[in-house]
Amino acid sequence: MVTPRQLKQLADQHGTPLFVVDHHEIRRNFAMFRKHLPRVQAYYAVKANPDPAIVKTLFRAGASFDVASMPEFNIVHENIAKWPAKKRQDFIWDKIVYANPVKDNRTLAELDPYKPLVTYDNLAEVGKIKKYAPHAGLVLRVNVPNTGSMVELSSKFGASPGEAVDLMEAAFNAGLAVEGLSFHVGSQCTNYQNYVQALEIADSIFKEAWDRGHKQVRILDIGGGFPAPYDPHVQPFAELAKTLNAEFDRLFGPEIEIIAEPGRFMVATAAILAVEIIGKAVRNGKQCYYVNDGVYGTFSGVLFDHCQYHFKAFKKGPTQIASVFGPTCDALDVVSVAEDLPIGLQLGDYLYSENIGAYTIASATNFNGMPLPKVVAVGATL
Ligand SMILES: *Cc1c(COP(=O)(O)O)cnc(C)c1O
Repeated sequence: MVTPRQLKQLADQHGTPLFVVDHHEIRRNFAMFRKHLPRVQAYYAVKANPDPAIVKTLFRAGASFDVASMPEFNIVHENIAKWPAKKRQDFIWDKIVYANPVKDNRTLAELDPYKPLVTYDNLAEVGKIKKYAPHAGLVLRVNVPNTGSMVELSSKFGASPGEAVDLMEAAFNAGLAVEGLSFHVGSQCTNYQNYVQALEIADSIFKEAWDRGHKQVRILDIGGGFPAPYDPHVQPFAELAKTLNAEFDRLFGPEIEIIAEPGRFMVATAAILAVEIIGKAVRNGKQCYYVNDGVYGTFSGVLFDHCQYHFKAFKKGPTQIASVFGPTCDALDVVSVAEDLPIGLQLGDYLYSENIGAYTIASATNFNGMPLPKVVAVGATL
């Protein structure tokens, strides 16, 4: 990972706010995923961080991709389109899943020529796919427990397990090809039982589908949710992988092809943000610092991702609890009210925040005219 010293040099050189992406770390995360889950092909969920350089690095490492919009699709397509045709020929089949269960008609029509894998979870979608993307392969998204995950998704997506095979049959009856099923246990899932229960549900749906004659359903997409080590309470990934592998071996024969859609896991630890103190005040006896990026910018994850980021300073010494505010005029722009920071930081001093690669810059705005950070890549191969 980029050291504090390197970060300081980069901030001096490029100015702040500065978002440093460490591609070595991305490759390490991908390699860890592959090593611990050898049966699973990782489809990186582009929404976590759609930086084209990240897409390229992961493609080179062997990843496939999960996209949820035509612009995301194009980011992947354009960035691997430069690769030799031999590598590209099967692009769509093994390199992409369009995993947004609800798609507009135009998107479906644009996707159709690529014969993509697309997810769905309702009857209305079957009608749309039949009309606008009849060449797609279908993956049924089912609802599974999201208990304790930092971001829950189960109230918005997923057919109930009880209606799953009926929804598959509706698609078959419409002349479409259902190839598999998918779920998402919720993002930053630290309750590994969610996966165990989801795999049980998936197993019973496969069995019911096969019993009803649909033997061609054999892709299992276990979604995302793999946690980043934001704090020491998150159990090591190897533990989760051990649990998953045991369940895979118990429930699924080699005829089942297992894929996953990790987003956060691949990129969260791979970025650091450096900001600068642009104002300071003492309010109600508490030290407050104003910095040049906030919750409308790279710290958008505070609001959208329910994630709390912490700050470190390059200066050392005794500390005090301080608030850190973003640069906009909105009172909502509070990044943290409890940071342990050295006493006596000055205007122009840098602060930095680690593990800030996922769901941060991806959802940043330039509200109030505040610029987005400059992005610098470390360790990217051209
Ligand atoms: C957001 C999302 C992901 C990625 O989730 P992470 O928790 O970041 O791994 C994967 N699949 C789908 C369908 C998603 O919506």
